[in-house]
Amino acid sequence: MERYSHIKGKMQREIVLLKAKPCAWSICTFCDYIEDNSTCLEEMIAINHTVLDQITEEYGILEVIDSASIFELPQETLERIKQIIQAKHIHTLFIESHWLYYQHSQEIKKFFWY
Ligand code: SF4
Repeated sequence: MERYSHIKGKMQREIVLLKAKPCAWSICTFCDYIEDNSTCLEEMIAINHTVLDQITEEYGILEVIDSASIFELPQETLERIKQIIQAKHIHTLFIESHWLYYQHSQEIKKFFWY
């Protein structure tokens, strides 16, 4: 599975597909992302950090998607993303989340940028 790539053209950016804990929603019939869910913390951290290590400073824009919502990534992975934002001078970050977590959107924004 390709977990690191570039999106060219409009809003050029790096994109990573990370491994997450089981999606809290998990009932979208079209979804095959959840086949990538894991309950093994060590596995998620190892895979995610190998992928995140590929990020460069090429665009300053990063998109992080995963097999659930951003809130279902291990804390260690969230911390690594935060470190990379600072180290690689990322100025724009795209993430995704299910509506279930809408009350936490400001919280995750503060986590990454403050
Ligand atoms: S919320 Fe997202 S990850 Fe979860 S089942 Fe639906 S499409 Fe898949």
